[in-house]
Amino acid sequence: MTRYTGSCHCGAVRFEIEADPVETTSCDCSICAKKNARMIQVHESGFTLVAGEEFLSTYQWNMRIARHHFCARCGIYTFHRKRMAPDSYGINIYCLDGFDERALPHRRTEGAALSVAEE
Ligand SMILES: [Zn+2]
Repeated sequence: MTRYTGSCHCGAVRFEIEADPVETTSCDCSICAKKNARMIQVHESGFTLVAGEEFLSTYQWNMRIARHHFCARCGIYTFHRKRMAPDSYGINIYCLDGFDERALPHRRTEGAALSVAEE
């Protein structure tokens, strides 16, 4: 397993992951598209929030299963609890220190095809 450290822009939210990701993903659902997010999936056993729980804000929409976390001070999306894999986190790879996205294949996932709740 490889250990990575990560943080939001202002540094209030800091976390560590242990993972051996095999791919990065981006998602075409309405929120991921606006975040322009590129992610890796990490099981919750490999995730540690080091600092900033008091700064961590959560946005939920639609089915209110996924939990989209971001720093309330600088606004950066750091990670989220996944809807399709609720025991895992999606990690914003651009928040990771020294992560080489070019070393991994990239896959586009089709989140937009998932059901959307009727309002
Ligand atoms: Zn921040």
